[in-house]
Amino acid sequence: MSAQRVAIVTGAARGIGAGVAKRLASDGMAVAVLDLDAAHSQVVVDEITAAGGTALAVGADVSDEASVAAAVELVAEQLGAPTVLVNNAGIIRDNMLFKMSVDDWDAVMGVHLRGAFLLARATQSFMVKEKFGRIVNLSSTSAQGNRGQVNYSAAKAGMQGFTKTLALELGKFGVTANAIAPGFIETEMTHATAERMGVAFEDFEKAVASQTAVNRIGQPEDIAHTASYLCSAGAGFVSGQVIYVSGGPAD
Ligand code: NAP
Repeated sequence: MSAQRVAIVTGAARGIGAGVAKRLASDGMAVAVLDLDAAHSQVVVDEITAAGGTALAVGADVSDEASVAAAVELVAEQLGAPTVLVNNAGIIRDNMLFKMSVDDWDAVMGVHLRGAFLLARATQSFMVKEKFGRIVNLSSTSAQGNRGQVNYSAAKAGMQGFTKTLALELGKFGVTANAIAPGFIETEMTHATAERMGVAFEDFEKAVASQTAVNRIGQPEDIAHTASYLCSAGAGFVSGQVIYVSGGPAD
């Protein structure tokens, strides 16, 4: 039997990241549940452990170089070489361009792009050494443009170019890189958006579902299922792709 694969999922204390972490653990991987606050990650770790899986709570800020280096070192020591990486941590700081602050621009770029870059750079040597790696980056349908999200849509479009270049650079070492671009998924992020817009979540959900081909909004498990496939050994000939998991055509 081959050694247990080790995955790092960022922003995994809740929402999509928690769904992905639980799914990869049930697929048999040892999972580092990385989030800003390790105490929040511990809740997901306990769920994984209770279900018979292996997981480790890791506290780190993905936008901070030293924090990422320490986190990856901890994972390698405690779980083994991380050869699966899901760059999921994300924030939104929505505003129309004329009202958007430089801090809101930088914060979004920092978590999504700088964070994904730092994690990929810190883990690639383990993947290259093992001649196996799976990198999944969270993009969004907003990559195609969304009012009030000039920072977020730029970051999410950036994730797609980042993914394709990782695929080109790392492919010969058995490492694939793909992006998942979710549509509307029910998480604290989308609940917060509804609240900010002053709409009840149920009304928001109905409106979005009515414009979605499958007539519903998504759940974290929808994204976890796609991540599970992309991280599987059998998906080794799929690389540099952007998969829209949005209940219909992307636009
Ligand atoms: P969420 O519920 O807001 O969860 C995001 C997680 O990331 C939180 O646990 C958060 O921690 C963590 N995080 C934020 N900044 C971090 C940092 N600097 N370092 C480490 N962790 C950090 O979001 P979600 O809806 O699950 O979204 C997950 C990903 O999918 C994001 O990249 C998002 O852009 C993308 N996405 C979501 C949707 C959607 O409809 N929900 C659609 C398209 C794409 P704290 O709780 O401590 O802040």
